[in-house]
Amino acid sequence: MEHLDSYADDRLVLGCTYCHRDTDTREHVPSRILLDEPYLDNLPVLPACAKCNQGFSLDEEYFACLVECARTGSVDKVERPKIRRILQDSPALAARMMQARTVAENGEAVFKTENDRVRKVVLKLARGHAVYELDEQKPEEPSRVMFVPLHSLAPYAREHFENPPTTAGWPEVGTRAMQRMAVSTAFGPTVIEQKEQKGTDAFLRGLPAACIRTEARAIM
Ligand SMILES: [Zn+2]
Repeated sequence: MEHLDSYADDRLVLGCTYCHRDTDTREHVPSRILLDEPYLDNLPVLPACAKCNQGFSLDEEYFACLVECARTGSVDKVERPKIRRILQDSPALAARMMQARTVAENGEAVFKTENDRVRKVVLKLARGHAVYELDEQKPEEPSRVMFVPLHSLAPYAREHFENPPTTAGWPEVGTRAMQRMAVSTAFGPTVIEQKEQKGTDAFLRGLPAACIRTEARAIM
C-alpha cells in the first residue's frame, strides 16, 4: 500500500483510537486476522491501549471465522490457513460455528450470526478507519450500524456502498483523506494552489510530491 503520513493537527487524535485513554500499543486496521500473509507493505497502524487492543481480539477471531465459514459454506473445509489453525486450536469456537450452521431449502449453508459481536467488530473497524483517514475520533454511539452480505444488497445500495459519495466539502487539511482527494481525478481536475500564507507553505512542502504535481485546484 502507498505510504501516507498524516499532516493534520496532531491535537485531533488524542490517546487510544477507541477510548482516548493513554496508549501503550499499536494495532492494525483492518485487523491482521482478516488478512493473509504476506501482508501488504504500509498497513494502516493506529494507537490503541492494551485494554482495547486485547478487548477486541476474541470478537475479531469469531468474526474472521464466521466470514470464512460463511464464504466456504463449511466449518471443516475452510480455505484460509490462519482460520483453519484457529478452529483447530479452539474446539469451542469450531463447535459454536457448527451450531450456527444450517442448510436452507436450496441447499446453501446459512450461518446464524452473533450480532452483538459482529457489530462490535464492524464499529471498531469504522472508528479505526475514521481516525486513519480523517483524523476524527468517534467515541459516541452511532445512530445506526448495518451489516449485510454483499450479495444481498440491492443494485442501487451496492453502487452506493462501492462508490463513495462526492461532496463539496473537503476533509480536514492534512489528513490522508484530503491528500487522496488532492491526487484523485474523481473530483475533477485540480491543482494545489500555493498561497503565501503563514503555515501554508510549510504544509505544502510537507505534502508528498505526487500531491504537488497533480493538476488540481485546492483553495487553502
Ligand atoms: Zn483504548
